[in-house]
Amino acid sequence: MTQSEKMVQTDVLVIGLGPVGAALCNLLGRHGVQTVVCEQATEIFTKPRAIALDNEALRILQMLGVRDGEFTTTAIPRVHYHSPVYGCFARINTAGIIDGHPMLVTFYQPELEALLRDKLRQYPQVQTWLGHRLLDVEQQAEGVRVRLQDPQGQTVTVHCRYLVGADGANSQVRQQLGLEFEGETFEQDWLIVDAKHVPNPIDHCEFICDPRRPTPHMVAPGDRQRWEFMLHPGEDRERMQSPEAIRQLLAPWCRMEDIEIERTAVYRFHAREARAFSRGRCFLVGDAAHITPPFAGQGLVAGLRDVANLGWKLASVVQGRAPARLLDSYDQERRPHARKIIKLARFLGSLVMPSNRAKALLVHGLMKALRVLPQTRAFFEDLKIKPDNTFDQGLFVRERGHRRLLAGATFPQGWVRPAWTQQPTLSDEVLGQQWSLITFGDAPAASVSPEMLARWRAAGGQVWQWCQRAQGLHLAPASERVECLDENFLPRVVPLGWACIVRPDRCVFAEGPAAQVERLLQAALDHFQTDGVRA
Ligand SMILES: Cc1cc2nc3c(=O)[nH]c(=O)nc-3n(C[C@H](O)[C@H](O)[C@H](O)COP(=O)(O)OP(=O)(O)OC[C@H]3O[C@@H](n4cnc5c(N)ncnc54)[C@H](O)[C@@H]3O)c2cc1C
Repeated sequence: MTQSEKMVQTDVLVIGLGPVGAALCNLLGRHGVQTVVCEQATEIFTKPRAIALDNEALRILQMLGVRDGEFTTTAIPRVHYHSPVYGCFARINTAGIIDGHPMLVTFYQPELEALLRDKLRQYPQVQTWLGHRLLDVEQQAEGVRVRLQDPQGQTVTVHCRYLVGADGANSQVRQQLGLEFEGETFEQDWLIVDAKHVPNPIDHCEFICDPRRPTPHMVAPGDRQRWEFMLHPGEDRERMQSPEAIRQLLAPWCRMEDIEIERTAVYRFHAREARAFSRGRCFLVGDAAHITPPFAGQGLVAGLRDVANLGWKLASVVQGRAPARLLDSYDQERRPHARKIIKLARFLGSLVMPSNRAKALLVHGLMKALRVLPQTRAFFEDLKIKPDNTFDQGLFVRERGHRRLLAGATFPQGWVRPAWTQQPTLSDEVLGQQWSLITFGDAPAASVSPEMLARWRAAGGQVWQWCQRAQGLHLAPASERVECLDENFLPRVVPLGWACIVRPDRCVFAEGPAAQVERLLQAALDHFQTDGVRA
């Protein structure tokens, strides 16, 4: 190392400040983790990319501190699939609220990224280094040594306890870790066109599944409409972005004179996942870990799921509240679900872009026929086809017969009224960033010994009694009491006398009759047991 080289120490180093890196840094900031994030670009990427977010993504953004209305969204009531032969052969109902958020919205990615970056300023322990490029990574016994190049071309060496690659599809972190990116790259190019002030805009999302030119088309905030045109072999990327080519493509919808073309880009889509999402002290999140064709609108959403899963685990380990082995559950929990999402996107892709006319007739005809049966119709139309974010393996205790909330699944969100404010609020706001023991109906002290409650609190766990609206019996102190205002919990989902333990990322760790909860608390505490060695 030369005299002029800089050396820095931090708990977590994040490479890449795209939306996923920015989301992770916000979560680490909320947990008070000393973090450095390095980003090679100096400006936010403005080419058209993600446009749709689902209720899960919006809930994770809520967890990061993004409040309703802080970035512009347009709720999408339905998604239609059109065939030139059958007309609308399939539809998905996306009107409605799940866990406190609209099922599907469109948004403007650069606006969200700017908001997430702006929010980082409130965390003095998170340092943002723009114009810094990753050079190399070396895992060591006590941490990771990472060399970066600063904007002046100088080398900066960072010693971190954990490294996160949020550096996108061409992730250098992934390459340095020697993790293969398995899957396939599709043959077709796609032209994305974002236009403003389009006369007669649509208010939903439609997929024109014409094998001659498949074209998704949707509304977005800011008086925008987006089209995605599949290009044919031999159609030149540059020429297809010319005003003349776009004029022809948009002719069925509008005249170029009436609209403003805001931005265009040509992409080739991929369906790939890293062989593992972690190696040693290094982790991959977002496109660095998995990429999916955009037909399910789930690429960024999957990245946000990574962040919610990894953020609190890193915080618990670096702050000495949990052993390093807790981090093993990140790959275990996230990789199978990311794979299921890629599979879903590929299936939807086969509807949107059948490779020839005969396949289109068959596949679209079959989908139309399946709408006749109520079960198959609901499977698609009510989005049951989308895999639940429920883990098969990982950090939870699932017991036979206890399936009200399901350990390993996501804890619902509903409207509640905490006794200490008397203001209706979304329930995640009550849970905050910690572990929670919730007993439904009865006060926790009715079923858990004072010693166990004290140990739970000492480990950072919270204790709540969630009661039915206007319930007046067996009440815990006001600071622990929450009234459920809708049917998301009591008694539709859980009966009175039930209990559950919820992780900071809203995954149900365990559930059961309140009488058994002491044993389940012990199981949770076992996961916090550190070996006394700083990880
Ligand atoms: C056409 C299209 C439509 C899409 N639609 C949707 C949708 O509707 N819904 C959805 O959820 N997803 C969608 N996606 C996917 C979504 O855009 C991506 O999943 C998301 O942007 C990935 O975010 P990221 O932060 O993981 O990666 P990126 O946004 O790629 O960010 C990675 C960052 O790392 C930086 N970086 C890279 N290498 C280095 C290095 N060596 N040193 C320092 N910094 C580095 C880069 O400059 C970049 O800023 C779509 C994608 C496309 C292309």
